[in-house]
Amino acid sequence: MTSYPVMIMMFHSILTESKLASRLISYPRQEMSIQDFRTIIQGLRSRDYQFISLDELHTRLENQDQDLKRYPFVSFTFDDGYTNNYTNALPVMEEYQIPFTLYLTTGYPDHEIIHMSEAIEDLVRNQAGVTLKVEDVTHTFDTSTLAGKIQTIRDIEQLLAQKCSTVQEMVELLKINAESYRHYGLSWEQVRKLHAQPLCTIGAHTRTHPNLTLLSEDDLERELVEPKARIEEQLGTVVNHFSYPYGRYNDLVREKATQAGYKTATVTRGGPFIPNYYDLYALPRECGIPHFQFPEHDSLAGREVK
Ligand SMILES: [Zn+2]
Repeated sequence: MTSYPVMIMMFHSILTESKLASRLISYPRQEMSIQDFRTIIQGLRSRDYQFISLDELHTRLENQDQDLKRYPFVSFTFDDGYTNNYTNALPVMEEYQIPFTLYLTTGYPDHEIIHMSEAIEDLVRNQAGVTLKVEDVTHTFDTSTLAGKIQTIRDIEQLLAQKCSTVQEMVELLKINAESYRHYGLSWEQVRKLHAQPLCTIGAHTRTHPNLTLLSEDDLERELVEPKARIEEQLGTVVNHFSYPYGRYNDLVREKATQAGYKTATVTRGGPFIPNYYDLYALPRECGIPHFQFPEHDSLAGREVK
């Protein structure tokens, strides 16, 4: 008998062609055009994948449902909570009637964090030079050429990663007007509209999107427990699914995710997995990227083929 692994696919932003074309740097693991997104869906459909929700996948895994091995299954997930998931991805999901999970970082609708890469791009795009003062050291970046702009984005990202532990610190360091970037993250009204759509399951993705492995135990608990409670309060529903920011977790993070009451937690790598061998609190995912290479069924199965 043919036996198939299960695939949980990860997406972030789904953008219009014009928005994507305006990007100085491409982030293929985090952004793709609506057309590339459609191409992935069409490719999965033509390969007879069955699209199921994470709740259904969880139930089938728990019940050791043998159909998981008989047919190719895929479950779609979106991380972070970008407005483009509502404006650009939802219409496509409705058109094809595909269930999906949106892992929400509640700091977006609660205005605690912003989409930093948009802010950094604007900073670099709109100025001939960028000067940043960090701990009494002045950093000057040349942004007069495209190559200079691209290098500056990378340098600033590195500087922020080294010097800042929260988005608030990044906003202060770059002197960004956070208000002008709020609209890139979902509002609670949009989250409620998504939730009202039967295809959509809202999961949690922390409050402020930290690397959970670097937090104190108290902060770790807060980042796991508070977003669950906050979404449940806003939507009047139970939140069962979680994804680790950057896919980063360790034994303690995993244990706390279990204690917080989630039924599953996903990471950011690993690809398709075999239904017999999995950890519900570290489910692997396949990253949806433009020009996605579809795993062929035979290679996916890797064992007896009918
Ligand atoms: Zn994330």
